Amino acid sequence: MNKFTDLGLNKALVDAVSDLGFETPTPIQAETIPLLLDSNKDILGLAQTGTGKTAAFGLPSIQLTDVNNKQTQTIILSPTRELCIQISKDLIAYSKNVKGIRVLAVYGGSSIENQMKSLRKGAQIVVGTPGRTKDLINRGILKLGNIERVILDEADEMLTMGFKDDLDAILSKTPAEKQTLLFSATMPDEMLRITKKYMHDVVEIKVAKINLGAKNVDHQYYMAQAKDRYEALKRIVDINPSIYGIVFCRTRRETTTIANKLSQEGYSADALNGDLSQAQRDDVMGRFRTRGLQLLIATDVAARGIDINELTHVINFNLPDEPEIYTHRSGRTGRAGNHGISVAIINTREVNKIKQIERKSGISFTQHMIPTGDEICQTQLYSLVDKIGKIHVDSAQIEPFLPTIYEKLGDLTKNDLIKHLVSAEFNRFLSYYKNSKDLNVSNKKRSSRKTAENHLRLFINIGKKDNLTPARLLGLINENLDNSDFEIGKIDIFKTFSFFELDEKIAETLIESLTGEEFEGRTLALEVASGKPSRRRSNSGGSGRSSRGKRDYKSNSSGGRRDNKKKNHRKGGSSSNRRSKKKW
Ligand code: AMP
Repeated sequence: MNKFTDLGLNKALVDAVSDLGFETPTPIQAETIPLLLDSNKDILGLAQTGTGKTAAFGLPSIQLTDVNNKQTQTIILSPTRELCIQISKDLIAYSKNVKGIRVLAVYGGSSIENQMKSLRKGAQIVVGTPGRTKDLINRGILKLGNIERVILDEADEMLTMGFKDDLDAILSKTPAEKQTLLFSATMPDEMLRITKKYMHDVVEIKVAKINLGAKNVDHQYYMAQAKDRYEALKRIVDINPSIYGIVFCRTRRETTTIANKLSQEGYSADALNGDLSQAQRDDVMGRFRTRGLQLLIATDVAARGIDINELTHVINFNLPDEPEIYTHRSGRTGRAGNHGISVAIINTREVNKIKQIERKSGISFTQHMIPTGDEICQTQLYSLVDKIGKIHVDSAQIEPFLPTIYEKLGDLTKNDLIKHLVSAEFNRFLSYYKNSKDLNVSNKKRSSRKTAENHLRLFINIGKKDNLTPARLLGLINENLDNSDFEIGKIDIFKTFSFFELDEKIAETLIESLTGEEFEGRTLALEVASGKPSRRRSNSGGSGRSSRGKRDYKSNSSGGRRDNKKKNHRKGGSSSNRRSKKKW
């Protein structure tokens, strides 16, 4: 296969990617990089995350940058702020040996003034969410005169998230002779429209997803409250009596705390961290290798270089900040053809991290329920029974003691004897888990999809007059929230204001994040319009609004129709709104 040098990349970039451990270009890199470097063709890349597409468009964009010109030359659009940050981080890493280059991420929900300041200093590559990018263009801060390429990353996601109008606006304002690259996992009709309208002389590149995560590994996550994390860990260990694995922690101190607690409670565990002397480290590793220890509680740094093929589990006591680190951790299991399990213990606010890892590493997680006390007792009991059945009996050694044993236990029936024997070992679990609570927290955001009980009705001071559509509202919300896994309920757009229903858990965050932001030249104001959305709402201008008394929300009348409308709940980002034939 090609090496990076063969693709036409210069030494500064080849060195940087080899420092990152990239030895061979992925298929999309092998195809895209030479095309971008040597031709003016537009590129349509049908590729998911996990294919290496960021480097595919990032490396040539860096190489083609005129570092003597501070003006923006490449705009990369991506659907969420996390992705913007991730892409810009990746590009900064690739360009570490390139002097004079500046990569800047711009996204909603964060001070536009600071981003304007940064842009004024000059950034040749701007990575932005569509709404914020358009805003900066409209303010004349992001100048388009020198734009040579526009890259749409995860274009299908951007459309689903309601950024269609923003994309149109950006693509039509950027110079016509630019190179346009569009990467997307799927090709919905709307995308075809974009490609037809804005792209010319298109080369289509289609690559399958490459799984960068270890094969033979099941990725599982368990959701608990942060305060129950340790309890959850114990239950996961208890439901797997033959576990042999590494528990990854963030800090040295955490490894020691967890290891101490576990060993005090009778688990076979010890810590491995940078505070240990070489002799202590060798001792711990020696015991772990020979299975004298079942669990090694380690930091990422300390666990480097551990190559044991038989590990059954890797447990992320905390998820790492970088998806790549998760991939490294999980790759410690499932080796040499063995099957492995990589577990993440998360709280409800960390679901996004799981999604980020899935996107970045091309792996899929399944959610598992934290076992209940009963389930654990059952598993432990059968495991104990199995162990008793399989145990090696050294008759010669036992023989001399048997008369006394018969004397002491002779009165017990076979049945009773079994009960006594099993209980001797098993009582610890029974008493520990007696009346134990359920540690699972439901992912309410997910489970509430069918109901609006958890929704608040919010007022926003923009409407049709400001070119607000349901899709643009979705885009605005998506762009200003960290979390794209939210639900939005009914949307009512009137002439100068609108209402929408939103998961109450994130409503406050959204209000804070959007208030004071600008949309089409208007400063946004949001507030909670009422408590829970009413099941049967009256027509426009109806009681809900007039009872507020403060504003005269005379609507432009779409109200009567709504009575018969079915409530339309969707995940933030679903396109159902836009496809609907309703007049908004
Ligand atoms: P992406 O699809 O751009 O999000 O990349 C997915 C992951 O693959 C990231 O963690 C990259 O750091 C990694 N990656 C990209 N290109 C290569 C390569 N040529 N060799 C190894 N890893 C790569």
